[in-house]
Amino acid sequence: MMSSIPILMYHHITPEVLPTFRKYAVTPKAFAAQMNWLTLGGYVPITFDDLLAHRKGQRPIPVRPVIITFDDGFRECAEYAVPILQAHQFTATFYVITGLMGKASRWLRPERGIELPLMDWDAARRLEAAGLHCGSHSMTHPRLAEVSPVACRHELFDSRRLLEDRLGHAIGHLAYPFGSFNDTVRALAAETGYQSACSVRIGLSSPEEDPLALSRVPVNGQDSLLDFICRVRTAHTCKEFLHSKVWHAWQRLRMNRASSLT
Ligand SMILES: [Zn+2]
Repeated sequence: MMSSIPILMYHHITPEVLPTFRKYAVTPKAFAAQMNWLTLGGYVPITFDDLLAHRKGQRPIPVRPVIITFDDGFRECAEYAVPILQAHQFTATFYVITGLMGKASRWLRPERGIELPLMDWDAARRLEAAGLHCGSHSMTHPRLAEVSPVACRHELFDSRRLLEDRLGHAIGHLAYPFGSFNDTVRALAAETGYQSACSVRIGLSSPEEDPLALSRVPVNGQDSLLDFICRVRTAHTCKEFLHSKVWHAWQRLRMNRASSLT
């Protein structure tokens, strides 16, 4: 039977955590502990190609699969994450912004008041040589649901073509910047040649899920290792998970009481 899969969503791995980016920055020490736990727990990272082939009934996957993703292609993130991933022989996908390679995360200036350096094409090639994968995160990181269909097509098609030109192989996987998409964006992602696209909707990815609207499991900078373990299993931190359990139990109790009073 096919089961739901955690698609982990990281942004930055850095020892220098900026206060305004705390939620999105995991230290190398915490990241190493998380990868160690995946190994000890018997989790085996797979690729999006593996996931899609498996869901079409064409490829078996390990008993405890996980997908590891990094959004934005921060230069430092690759520097710190790649050696740790390699030490575990883990595969992962880095979603890069193809129009800003070697430049800075200028979309973060209005959002968070900071700019961070982004990896260049040499770094992307080194990453692939290390057995990791690059995917598209658009050309310039706009909210795709808020731009015109013409601009959206350009962001999606041009970034895929540029990645294919620079890396020399087919690219089929996308993460929507800010998780922003709607029916038009989804249709354009399909039309411009993507087979999978990640959103930022929180959840384990179920076998029935639309491959162009995949749920993910955010891993936040403030998460403890116990939170990480809860997230891998439920998509939520321990506190969030317990809250939702207590809330549902309370709702059930209220409904039972209401029905017994009628
Ligand atoms: Zn992003």
